[in-house]
Amino acid sequence: MRRTLIESLFRGKLTEPAPRVGEAEPMALLTELGETARGRLGRSLAIRELDAGSCNGCELEITALGNAFHDLERFGLKFVASPRHADVLMITGPLTRNMLEAMRSAYEAMAAPKFVIAVGDCACTGGVFAGSPACIGAAAQILDVDLRIPGCPPDPVTLLKGLIGFANALASAPTHRSTQS
Ligand code: SF4
Repeated sequence: MRRTLIESLFRGKLTEPAPRVGEAEPMALLTELGETARGRLGRSLAIRELDAGSCNGCELEITALGNAFHDLERFGLKFVASPRHADVLMITGPLTRNMLEAMRSAYEAMAAPKFVIAVGDCACTGGVFAGSPACIGAAAQILDVDLRIPGCPPDPVTLLKGLIGFANALASAPTHRSTQS
């Protein structure tokens, strides 16, 4: 025990350094995202986040979008508690068998037009859990996915860039398949 304590006194940091992101970059992206969402959609975009079996790493980064620094809701994007109020189902984690029906129910509860975004390597491909007997894998195996944002986990800047691309794409695809249901 004493040896462990002494070693830990002299051991350097074991964590990776945080990515260098200037304050200006997230602010510029948030402003662009807000303008894009309002300009293209004419209103704010409501997102229902669904954890389909995540390790919670992706949720930590998504939660960071709502902290005092990013404050995503200022820019017209909000996370909602009910899929009935959502335009977008944002899925994280490898789809576990236990969450299959919950994911289907959430999607069916949404009003058209509705969209699906897979966030993180697990939701995009199954990630490190692909092949597990407890998991089905990528969200796209069950639902049509409109956007994939890879990363393990994707950081807030990557998430913002993905959401901006998504808001732009909505304008160029006004007759989306999900408007039919
Ligand atoms: S992509 Fe990485 S951080 Fe996100 S749920 Fe999977 S293992 Fe966790």
